[in-house]
Amino acid sequence: MADRYLHFTATGPGRFLTRRLGLPSPAALRRWSPERPALEGPVLHLAAGASSLALPDVGLKAAAPGERPAGVVLDASALATVDELAELHRLSHPVVRSVAQGGRVVVLGAAVSATDHHQAAAQQALEGFVRSLGKEIGGGRTVNLVRVRGDAAGLESTLRFLLSPRSAYVSGQVVEVGGGQAVGGGGRGVVEGGGGGAVPPFDPDRPLAGRTALVTGAARGIGAAVAATLERDGARVIGLDVTGADVDADITAPDAARVIADAAGDGGLDVLVHNAGITRDRRLANMAAERWSSVLDVNLGSVLRTTDALLADGTLRRGGAIVATASIAGIAGNTGQTNYAASKAGVIGFVRALGAGCATGHGVRVNAVAPGFIETKMTAAVPLLIREAGRRMNSLGQGGLPVDVAEAVAWLASPGAAGVNGQVVRVCGQSLLGA
Ligand code: NAD
Repeated sequence: MADRYLHFTATGPGRFLTRRLGLPSPAALRRWSPERPALEGPVLHLAAGASSLALPDVGLKAAAPGERPAGVVLDASALATVDELAELHRLSHPVVRSVAQGGRVVVLGAAVSATDHHQAAAQQALEGFVRSLGKEIGGGRTVNLVRVRGDAAGLESTLRFLLSPRSAYVSGQVVEVGGGQAVGGGGRGVVEGGGGGAVPPFDPDRPLAGRTALVTGAARGIGAAVAATLERDGARVIGLDVTGADVDADITAPDAARVIADAAGDGGLDVLVHNAGITRDRRLANMAAERWSSVLDVNLGSVLRTTDALLADGTLRRGGAIVATASIAGIAGNTGQTNYAASKAGVIGFVRALGAGCATGHGVRVNAVAPGFIETKMTAAVPLLIREAGRRMNSLGQGGLPVDVAEAVAWLASPGAAGVNGQVVRVCGQSLLGA
């Protein structure tokens, strides 16, 4: 179901009416295209305090006088006291008004100390700052926080993603990069991690070249977009769905992992995207057991079973990546979705725990995307008023597109994201739900 309001507000009469009536007028988001792959304009680098963080080369440069920055990277990782937070205001206040439409603001923070309560206060303050600026900045601009740990592995790919049109629907989020994840091995010239999650060499335009990915639920919606985006990034993609994909299979079937292993062949899998999912909504008091069990089995049980089997039989190669699909319903809860929200919260638990075992055990990174309201057949089935509320109740004032989720999956799956592990990245336009 197309967002007619968004199209209407982009027309002359629509603009006139929404202004006169004081209605919201969401900005048209600029997404990645081959013709316009990058932000157009300078990305400013501002450093608060005496930061020792060496920033990767992602094209940061000073704006010429009068030029509007397309992006701002504000390094606040050195802020360790409440007094030093004044730097945040001093640096951001003069530039915030000049950030171009559809621009990107990325704040860099440090890990929050468990022992230094002054540093913890200052660094936690960054989250409130970022989330509030995301809500007020408007114009399709996004604001995100990247916490940098240890060796900062994965910072470059994370910055490249967050400073690009690919992250059009990711705002108000906190992502941790770097630290103690070794993602070595795999026989693909991957630099041994030594605890640092070292980043293997890769081509930024085709980061998944030579890699094999399997996407479940790939016949339509978000899964189809994920398959197309991973292919764009160079992967050989195997789509799986009950029908209409490369491999027709029910992911809940007892032999599903074997079917996947056979489809992958001798080379195994570098990327596994758990995307298949269903809803069977009812309030708990009206929910038959079958509605509960089918949702738990497709969305969560099958994820655990296939992952365990594919790690155990070596189909999932060391140095690879799993990206699972949670939901903001798994964070915020939702009326009529005790089954669905339980399954998606379970996905978050799975990702955090299995991601933690990456360094010491299987050598496969594990992350999740948590989509908000995305325009697909699943959300087209939602009753009109609830659908309209879901679309508008976020900082960007509109639903996301399947490709927005796919771009986040592609970043998390890419070898450049080596230091990104155990994370749940919301692709929700900074939804008010569960914020
Ligand atoms: P969709 O219904 O359009 O597509 C889901 C696909 O999964 C379908 O092609 C379906 O056939 C397949 N599938 C279902 N059960 C399967 C099974 N047992 N075996 C194999 N394939 C199976 O849904 P979508 O909106 O594209 O959602 C994709 C994922 O994103 C789901 O996990 C969903 O929960 C999640 N999600 C979607 C939204 C949204 O707003 N659309 C929001 C949050 C999370």
